[in-house]
Amino acid sequence: MPSLLSRLRRVRHSDQVIAAQVRATLVESLYASPQSLVIGAVASSAIAVTVAAVSGDGWLIAGAVALTGTALARIVDALRPPRSARDGGQKSGRQVKHQELVYLTGALSYSMLLGMFGLLTLTNTNDGVLQLLAVTTTIGYAAGIAGRNAGRPWIALSQLCCASVPVIVGLLASFDPLKAELAVVIGLFVVAMMNITLQTYDVILKATVGSMEKAALAEYNAALARRDDLTGVANRTAFREQLEADFAALGEADYCLAIHWLDLDRFKEINDSFGHFAGNALLCGIAARLNETYGGRGIVARLGGDEFAIVCRIRHPGEAASIGQEILRLVEQPVQHHGRLLHATASIGIAVAPTDGRDPDTLLKNADLALYRAKDSGRGQFCFYEPVMDEKVERGRHLASEMKGALGRGEFHLLFQPIFDLHGAAVVSCEVLLRWNNRRYGSVSPVEFIPIAESSGLIVEIGSWVIREACRSASGWGTDVNVAVNLSPIQLRSPDLPAVIMNALAATGLTAGRLELEVTESVLLEDVEGAIAALKAINSLDVGTTLDDFGTGYSSLSYLTRFPFQTLKIDRSFISDLEQSPASVAIVQTIVELAAKLGMRTVAEGIETQAQLDQLRRTRCDAVQGYFLAPPMSASMVDAMLADDKVRARG
Ligand code: C2E
Ligand code: MG
Ligand code: MG
Repeated sequence: MPSLLSRLRRVRHSDQVIAAQVRATLVESLYASPQSLVIGAVASSAIAVTVAAVSGDGWLIAGAVALTGTALARIVDALRPPRSARDGGQKSGRQVKHQELVYLTGALSYSMLLGMFGLLTLTNTNDGVLQLLAVTTTIGYAAGIAGRNAGRPWIALSQLCCASVPVIVGLLASFDPLKAELAVVIGLFVVAMMNITLQTYDVILKATVGSMEKAALAEYNAALARRDDLTGVANRTAFREQLEADFAALGEADYCLAIHWLDLDRFKEINDSFGHFAGNALLCGIAARLNETYGGRGIVARLGGDEFAIVCRIRHPGEAASIGQEILRLVEQPVQHHGRLLHATASIGIAVAPTDGRDPDTLLKNADLALYRAKDSGRGQFCFYEPVMDEKVERGRHLASEMKGALGRGEFHLLFQPIFDLHGAAVVSCEVLLRWNNRRYGSVSPVEFIPIAESSGLIVEIGSWVIREACRSASGWGTDVNVAVNLSPIQLRSPDLPAVIMNALAATGLTAGRLELEVTESVLLEDVEGAIAALKAINSLDVGTTLDDFGTGYSSLSYLTRFPFQTLKIDRSFISDLEQSPASVAIVQTIVELAAKLGMRTVAEGIETQAQLDQLRRTRCDAVQGYFLAPPMSASMVDAMLADDKVRARG
């Protein structure tokens, strides 16, 4: 007995401290097996009705009616749809308490009525069979309930007492020794049942807590596996799952699905200039902002590196444009890192389902194409997918495969565009311009095929061929006119470049001083130290270097002091503006003066009119190039032109 009391105290304590979710599961267990409740209620009510009918006692008839009514109410409550489904998943603490109270009220009322019915049968009838029926039904019910409701031990124990104590009282009240003995046995039985209930509760509680901890751990691990470690937003796996789920739900829905695929512009520069921690801080800051704004509307994921994707539901494509605008704005807000403000911009590709893709793969591919286009057309902007992009990519793929055998098939040839001294009188140099005449696609512009050659890596082989061929042509000119070859950033990074140049010079006998190599600014942005070293290596061979297209993109005057260039080519965009824009005149004038002070020559390219040439003469740049003076021409034409020049010079 003392151990039972201490266990009761323990149960009271543990019942007070169990987690809300565990309590909810235990309360749910009361409703877990409605069949047993229905069988118990129907059987005991049926016995009560029989006992009442046979005895004809008014109290018993009233008791049987009350029992049947309560039984019906409890059956209705037990057979209602499962609680969690009805309440939409998780229930609040209040709902759980209410549910438990409803069950408790029904259970105690029924147990009390059953106990009272047993007591009345013992006091109001003398029929031994009826008494046997009432007592066994009540005690059987009490025993069943002690096991069934052990998940909520207070309910089970109260039911046990409410049902059996009146029967014990009824048996004792008859002052019959045999009945008294039965009362004692039932009393002991109740104590034993209480023990069993408490033991069962312990087992149920441990199992419930254990399985919940396991479920919580599994949920935590699953969430962790779907999160990007650095930024905390969804990772590629979670993004893919969500996208597939969104597509499955899209069906005939009256909304569209927009994917915004963004890539930070020049993120590498931030990493290189301020370090990886700064780069990470920038990614985290941007991810947090995007998630705050769009996390609730859809999914924000980091797909790797500096790439993010956002998927959300929209009513019409116009909405995708405003989201794109907002993303650009969010990315452009600076991120603080150790007292420094980090700035970034993004390029965004947008594709909208179902128009731009009826499955996740197509939509992603098209968003990627649009992103490529956004980057290509200036960065810091968004681009919608257009079917024409597919054609461009398809053509690019075919050109890449055609390019593989193009050198062997002799499809490449060189044109030469003369560069004149400022008076336009003498040719000082010729720029080599590569041409490709493909067997299937005909003439392909270098503006189209050079990037393809760069991304396929073929540019190194093709570029080496250009250097060799240019040197060969120039060595046959019979004058000291220079030859200028365009160099791709990939060639500049190639460790074999000095060897390629030396071999070309050695094989053709061209003096190193007559070769110039032109590189564009983009080369300087990527790997500053590497670029400086490569340019110095070229200069150490006595080969000249030219900064091409100066003034486009991200020009910085600091390039002029940091990088070893002997010549500066002013981009043709300034030259074409010379006639209309006084600002362009001032810019060209400044560039020419600055370059002269730094000991560099200046070449103005893209001269198309006499007026432009006149204007340039006033700025005193060193050399001029353009269709107005001479278009790019074949090797034989340039040979003839230079031979003419030579004759005139002699004459
Ligand atoms: P770039 O080095 O700036 O070459 C000058 C481009 O301007 C050439 O176009 C030339 O034909 C064009 N041009 C010359 N004068 C005028 C003019 O008065 N007005 C206008 N509007 N344009 C003029 P092209 O031959 O189509 O070459 C385009 C670009 O392709 C070149 O720009 C260069 O970046 C690249 N490229 C050409 N050949 C090679 C090569 O052998 N290797 C590498 N890596 N790139 C090359
Ligand atoms: Mg050039
Ligand atoms: Mg140029």
